[in-house]
Amino acid sequence: MNKLRVLKQFVGLKLRGKFQSREALLAYQETKWQSFVQSTLSKSTFYRPYIQGDKVDRHGLPIIDKAIFMDQFNQINTVGIDRDAAMDLAVRAESSREFDSTIDGITVGLSTGTSGKRGLFLISAEERESWVVMVMDRILPPKWFRKQKVAFFLRANSNLYTSVQSAIYDFQYFDIFQPIQTLAEALLVYRPDVLAGQPSILLALADILTKGNTQPSPWKPMQMISFAEVLHPEDATLLKHVFDAPIREVYQCTEGLLGVSCDHGTMHLNEDNLIVETEWIDEHHCRPIITDFTRKSQPVIRYRMSDVLKIKQTPCSCGSPFLAVEQILGRDDDVLWIGGERVFPDVLSRKIALATDAFARYEIVQTGETEIHVNIQSNHFEETKAAIAAVLEEYLSPIHEAPLRIHWHATTFNPTLKQRKIRHEIQHKIH
Ligand SMILES: [Zn+2]
Repeated sequence: MNKLRVLKQFVGLKLRGKFQSREALLAYQETKWQSFVQSTLSKSTFYRPYIQGDKVDRHGLPIIDKAIFMDQFNQINTVGIDRDAAMDLAVRAESSREFDSTIDGITVGLSTGTSGKRGLFLISAEERESWVVMVMDRILPPKWFRKQKVAFFLRANSNLYTSVQSAIYDFQYFDIFQPIQTLAEALLVYRPDVLAGQPSILLALADILTKGNTQPSPWKPMQMISFAEVLHPEDATLLKHVFDAPIREVYQCTEGLLGVSCDHGTMHLNEDNLIVETEWIDEHHCRPIITDFTRKSQPVIRYRMSDVLKIKQTPCSCGSPFLAVEQILGRDDDVLWIGGERVFPDVLSRKIALATDAFARYEIVQTGETEIHVNIQSNHFEETKAAIAAVLEEYLSPIHEAPLRIHWHATTFNPTLKQRKIRHEIQHKIH
């Protein structure tokens, strides 16, 4: 990594300042889009046929999804990397736990979405530098006179992440495939300033450090960072209480660094790097279609995410003109389908959190039209069960036609698996 270029970019970003209005932001995006078309998309076999003339209307390009993105991998990428070779390399890197896979200087990474389908991402050295600049700007502001220690709990390390290692940050990678007890002990030895991990790992650490009750932890970081999974508001509250530190939510996935929560706790999409189109499902919920004009080796253009976003109805008090997201609801299968209606998980999980104080982790899985399984991990199983049963009765009974069959199970969750609290596993969707 070229530190001078990173510093230059970072200073440039700071000097550019904040966008004064939504209009100024849109004008900036359009300029960036047009120059991106000429400099990058013209190199992509998939997109070249759409480029005619000096100005290209984005809406003339196809909307794609993950399946097309992976299927057309070789045609879309601009660096001539073959999908099968890249996949082979990434899988080998992950199983050997040696994470330095590059092809011709391009980092190849593997991602497993919550749907379990594997995705590949390509990052050039230049893109990695831009990523570091974004991390410095929005996630880990440098403290110039003191090195910050960052504990990074990850499924797989990547030289993308360790590239932030420098004079200002000391990174330590914690492999989440190790026993959580071992990781907690290592954490207490390292004592980082910043604790970063997926919510289910942070919750599992909270559980161990407080020995299963919700007392404040004997050790506290200065800052927590949550990524890779939906951070449920009640879990954020619990983590803030246990660790007595603020938590910043990062919306990062194969498709890029999409958003970061601001100091007011609102998630803003990084619209200075992305154009976000919204496909509305109902009045408040939409699926984002993103166009990233910073991804040069693997363009992400009019890419329909499977996440559902609940858009904030009132402007955030921080003054940012970037789209404010009230909540990321995860994938489209993170809903229940009852009586032909979509029940979004946020309503249920908030109610459940209000109904019980017991430290519990749970999962509500719909397996058939009237079949629901509830898995609970708690020292207060009966209390949690009663709370969840009451909420399900209150919300679902007015809309279901046939009686629901609810099965209750006591379980221990594997913290290395992505947590999806409420979801359906119905093979034939009923919508
Ligand atoms: Zn804000």
